[in-house]
Amino acid sequence: MTTPDLTRSRWTGTPPAPDPLPGGVPSAGAVTTPSAASAHPSGLPGQRATFSPELVRGDFPILHRTVNGHPLVWLDNGATTQKPRQVIETLAAFYGSANSNIHRGAHTMAREATEAYEGGRAAVADFLGAPSPDDIVFVRGTTEAINLVAQSWGRTNLGPGDDILVPVLEHHSNIVPWQMVAKETRARVVPVPLQPDGQIDLDAYADLLSMRTQLVAISHASNVLGTVPPVREMTALAHRYGAKVLVDGAQAVAHFPVDVQDLDADFYVFSGHKLFAPTGIGALYAKPEVLHGMAPWQGGGNMIESVGFGGTTFAPVPHLLEAGTGHISGVVGLLSALNWLTSFDRDAIAAYETSLMAYAQQAMATVPGLDLLGSAPDRIAVLTFTLAGHDPSEIAAWLDRDGIAVRAGHHCAQPALAHYGVQSAARASLALYNTAEEVDKLVASLLRLHESA
Ligand SMILES: *Cc1c(COP(=O)(O)O)cnc(C)c1O
Repeated sequence: MTTPDLTRSRWTGTPPAPDPLPGGVPSAGAVTTPSAASAHPSGLPGQRATFSPELVRGDFPILHRTVNGHPLVWLDNGATTQKPRQVIETLAAFYGSANSNIHRGAHTMAREATEAYEGGRAAVADFLGAPSPDDIVFVRGTTEAINLVAQSWGRTNLGPGDDILVPVLEHHSNIVPWQMVAKETRARVVPVPLQPDGQIDLDAYADLLSMRTQLVAISHASNVLGTVPPVREMTALAHRYGAKVLVDGAQAVAHFPVDVQDLDADFYVFSGHKLFAPTGIGALYAKPEVLHGMAPWQGGGNMIESVGFGGTTFAPVPHLLEAGTGHISGVVGLLSALNWLTSFDRDAIAAYETSLMAYAQQAMATVPGLDLLGSAPDRIAVLTFTLAGHDPSEIAAWLDRDGIAVRAGHHCAQPALAHYGVQSAARASLALYNTAEEVDKLVASLLRLHESA
């Protein structure tokens, strides 16, 4: 396997460079238009652009459309985020001037696409604080990453009598793959209970850990309760029993900076589409010593060294776990999204979201009969609620008439809702481009719904 030259496409942590590669490959520099450059006036190399929600909104064409005659208010970020113009333009530029399959190609286009793809791997490693790009496996998203770990790591390392600890607040993606592999290996999935406020019951967690525990699977932020569990402490405790820890970062990555080495996570997974990148691309980080012990889970091209009917030899990780043609444009789009997001001061974004969340909690409390689910102090900006006398799907349909997009249903977290004795709820999930004015529109519409009854 040839090692691509990453020098030109290697992630530098600086804002998009204005000169695309020869041939127009978007690569690490992404595609920068004059307007994009002016939107980030302080975006000199090595410097962070000033964050403001108004400035950021200018980067999202979709936020300027109307829905049912009203300006769109996108409060469904927990399901997927919108894409900045930089990402959209990068995708168009890739297909318009740089499309090629990667690796092994003796031609210029293949080499450039490979550089962009491997540059994306380096960018993800940097984004997560991983020691090396070789610790990153590209996948379709969080769900596929967890299934990969369950099937590849789980089948080799789980056996009868082993425990997999899974907090009750987990997304179905972080429950069902463990149930499937537990059934195959005769291991057990053990739920870790929640406190009334939606935080994980840490005493119960400590009691459930034992030498039987092989894996703890925790989300870094709950998609329905907003809870941010103390992942670092939980991981340290699990490691005392020799258990591995998988962290589901699907909700976390868009809201606050992540450092997998600081967390000491064995696995960390996320989806690009909840991080301003395209659908169909995500990443799995695994500690090098864990990754090197992982067996292939799918066979095909890209993951082999040589194939013969007498026997096949395999490529090293991470390629071993990436059978077939990857989502090349997805990686290029993800790279562009990471460039875009990290061009801002991420602590400033997190602080803004925290203040917007506090504002939203107070504003929502003025709606009679409205109950917010989850009140853990450590949280992301997710507001899951019920409104007395109104079905969640009726609430979502009502808000939609005002151009406000919220989700209604079980949010792929039925056990978390069951903890509050409900089967369904409405959810407004905020992102860096949402504003207090949009929260006001949500609350005004909910008040009208209450008064209409
Ligand atoms: C969305 C989500 C998932 C699943 O992500 P996909 O992109 O659908 O694979 C898993 N966990 C959490 C916490 C999520 O929010």
